[in-house]
Amino acid sequence: MNNWKFPTNTESKEDIYKALKELKKDDLPWKTGKVMAYVYQTIPAAQELAHEAYTLYLTENGLDPSQFPSLLQLERQVIAMVADLLNGGSAAVGNCISGGTESVMLAVKTARDRARQLYPKITEPEIIIPETAHPCFYKAGHYLNVKVKTTPVNKTTFKADVKAMEADITDQTILLACSAPSYTNAVIDDIEAIAAIAKTNNLLCHVDACVGGMFIPFAKMLGYSMPLFDFSIAGVTSISCDLHKYGYVPKGCSTIIYRNKALRQYQFFSCSAWPGYTILNPTVLSSKTGGPMAAAWSLFKFLGVETYKQAVKDCMDARDVVIAALTEIPELYLLGQPEISMLSFASNSASVNVFELAERMKAKGWYIQTQLKSTISDAGIHLSISHFNAPHIPALMEDLKVTVEALKKETDRSVQATFNPAMIEDMLTNFTPEVLDNLEQILSKNEQGIPDNFVLVNNILNTLEPAQRDMLLTAFVNKMFSVEQ
Ligand SMILES: *Cc1c(COP(=O)(O)O)cnc(C)c1O
Repeated sequence: MNNWKFPTNTESKEDIYKALKELKKDDLPWKTGKVMAYVYQTIPAAQELAHEAYTLYLTENGLDPSQFPSLLQLERQVIAMVADLLNGGSAAVGNCISGGTESVMLAVKTARDRARQLYPKITEPEIIIPETAHPCFYKAGHYLNVKVKTTPVNKTTFKADVKAMEADITDQTILLACSAPSYTNAVIDDIEAIAAIAKTNNLLCHVDACVGGMFIPFAKMLGYSMPLFDFSIAGVTSISCDLHKYGYVPKGCSTIIYRNKALRQYQFFSCSAWPGYTILNPTVLSSKTGGPMAAAWSLFKFLGVETYKQAVKDCMDARDVVIAALTEIPELYLLGQPEISMLSFASNSASVNVFELAERMKAKGWYIQTQLKSTISDAGIHLSISHFNAPHIPALMEDLKVTVEALKKETDRSVQATFNPAMIEDMLTNFTPEVLDNLEQILSKNEQGIPDNFVLVNNILNTLEPAQRDMLLTAFVNKMFSVEQ
């Protein structure tokens, strides 16, 4: 039922603003600095500047930079500054885009369209990724009709298995991809080896440095030993680098950088055949605000190398506090060896359910991200430590220790008792909308139709195969986004 009608009565600006603020009351209170995902922040002055720069360019349209030449200049300069960090040299080119997902979609489109032009025998193009690569590669394959072949990673280090990637190359392969680092465990693949294989086989090699691109270069300057990941490796043809993560730019800002213009040409789309204005889109979006780019440009100039280095240093110190504290909590163990200030850990104790742990931590004001059981690890917790989180990390680990102790002391932690996995499996084999209704009856939800508590949801999802999870989540979210109030 939809009770929302288009307004016939108007309200004052003040009332609307007040209502908007009121709406936010259940949102993650990220301003506390205790939210360890979704939001990346550095010093408050940067946040202020980003807001101002963003609003200054909110209305200008990046659809046609020939009419807004300042947007062209901002984009060229932001790209040049990022390419400089990534050792792109004078030939590197790129674009500012909406996010990491768009960067990967463009890299895959570029590889596909290059193959179409240069290698007509490739009729069923495929890309090869390690299983730790971000799901946006699957999304790119899904949207672009490109097959995605996933290779297993080393089960201890979580690094891509380079030999397995090489063995998967066929005459239909167009691109090898790798991460610097992977989001889950912050592990950097052996990019030198992967890029060398790509080069030998005349394939493109895309490095997903969405989180590492604005982190690793500063870590290197600080003296941390970091593997090579950028254009200093000959076979690397393109790199994703998000600015709305460790670049601390407001969301809607990432970059895709190519080694040269000849590669980038396949990214474009043009259409001058229709009766309207001529379309030449370098990226996915057509009309777009100049806000994110203006914010990126301003923040780079305001913060400079030294502040970004300081942010990386503070984040790395905080990461080391987490790693040290985890060694004092025997029920939890670190997954892999994180190379930046992101990491995951899991539980080795039946009395410490990580989903329950996250929910309890949320009640104490901490948001820590849960992750389901996967091909490489048990269900776990992920932390993305950004600059404004760093001062809170010792308190986070203290609360984590106390919460684990509390969970251990409670006897009936058997979540299995609350649902029967076999029943759910059974329901899913004959999936109908009623299955969802049945499931929803066992979930308690708040007034927005969002589960009050994700422990049960996660415990259910954790028992299912990925295809079943996807089916259930799709149905659930399809319902969640329907207007029912
Ligand atoms: C965040 C992330 C992405 C996706 O970025 P969005 O900006 O959310 O689209 C891709 N790859 C990695 C490694 C990431 O961390």
